[in-house]
Amino acid sequence: MRPSLSESTKAGRRFAKNNPNYLRCRRAKRHWLDEDNATATNLPKEEGAGWRITMECVRCGTFRHEKWDRYGNRFGNLTYEWPDGYREEFAQVPQDKDAQAALNLAWLKLLRGPRSATVHPLPVPRIA
Ligand SMILES: [Zn+2]
Repeated sequence: MRPSLSESTKAGRRFAKNNPNYLRCRRAKRHWLDEDNATATNLPKEEGAGWRITMECVRCGTFRHEKWDRYGNRFGNLTYEWPDGYREEFAQVPQDKDAQAALNLAWLKLLRGPRSATVHPLPVPRIA
């Protein structure tokens, strides 16, 4: 008889099954779109002189914002905007060893199997 799974393992497996792209982003780090889809806008005056550069993760749709001064130096903290449900889904997964092992195993299975179906489609480049 197989040993019964802990609640943490079940939570990790459930998360991985329902959120393969979020899993991939957490384990392999995010996959930011190239500069064709990055934007640079002027910072609001109260944040200083410079630009906000925004990039989007090709898999999960998370946005990352950076602040750059007018001399070309990044400053301040990176900030993120997550897709609806992203953080709430992760909050359901315990931080213990069983849950993290379940996530790791699920990610290994993804790496060994077909993945293209789970990739967020690339946007069509804009033509001027
Ligand atoms: Zn992502």
